[in-house]
Amino acid sequence: MAQIELSGVAKRYGSHVALAGIDLAVAEGEFVALVGASGSGKTTLLKTINGLVAPDAGEVRVLGGAAAGAPHELRRRIGYVFQEVGLFPHLTVAENIGVTSRLLGWDRPRIAARVEELLDLVALPREMASRMPTALSGGQRQRVGVARALAAQPAVVLMDEPFGALDPVTRDGLGADYRALHERLGLTTVMVTHDMAEAVLLADRIVVLEAGRLLADGPPARLAGSDDPQVRALMDAPRRQAERLRARLEGGA
Ligand code: ADP
Ligand code: MG
Repeated sequence: MAQIELSGVAKRYGSHVALAGIDLAVAEGEFVALVGASGSGKTTLLKTINGLVAPDAGEVRVLGGAAAGAPHELRRRIGYVFQEVGLFPHLTVAENIGVTSRLLGWDRPRIAARVEELLDLVALPREMASRMPTALSGGQRQRVGVARALAAQPAVVLMDEPFGALDPVTRDGLGADYRALHERLGLTTVMVTHDMAEAVLLADRIVVLEAGRLLADGPPARLAGSDDPQVRALMDAPRRQAERLRARLEGGA
């Protein structure tokens, strides 16, 4: 059964069409990478899923309910990792991670226990609980962002270029760690990335947006064999990069 279902979802900002009628269904347990050029509508699409953006037309159903129906209840069941992390700078790591639990009215001991559990889950030392976000590396901050998104045990996790600002090695490690969490917790994940290699390496399925329309949708191997020259060109980029890397690293020069 689809956990996320969009039909004919359209959104415009003034005369600019951000989404031009999107049909998309994501099944339970799927890991979808949403890729596309800057301005193609990726963030807008993600935000229609958790109700931060209301579509002008079409329907969004998440976890069996209409997104517009009960935004607060629904948003609790959807974890969201923001572009640029978006940690509260004046709150400690523990307070950042515990924001949702506090909103839910949990008592202090329960929140503290959950924070420790979440730090373990994202492989951060428990001592980091009392640090301020500025005292963390970019990768550590992003792990806190993931922990915060998982705090209320969501079924669906939406991530907007979560690892975009990180160096390649940190990014690789975080991506693999998150993929393992996705499996372990049985999550349904939609991750926006502009990095095709990251999409191919992490996702079961790649959805390509172009100017508010779906250009392609399928498993990486199927997209790589697409008849559409534009889709093939996109898929060729990581392959060429891998070939150049191999040639240089094995060339001995
Ligand atoms: P992406 O995440 O793929 O870079 P966005 O979904 O952020 O793209 O934006 C899609 C288009 O809609 C862009 O042209 C952007 O400038 C425009 N847009 C996004 N949000 C707003 C907004 N709140 N007001 C006006 N235009 C917006
Ligand atoms: Mg964006």
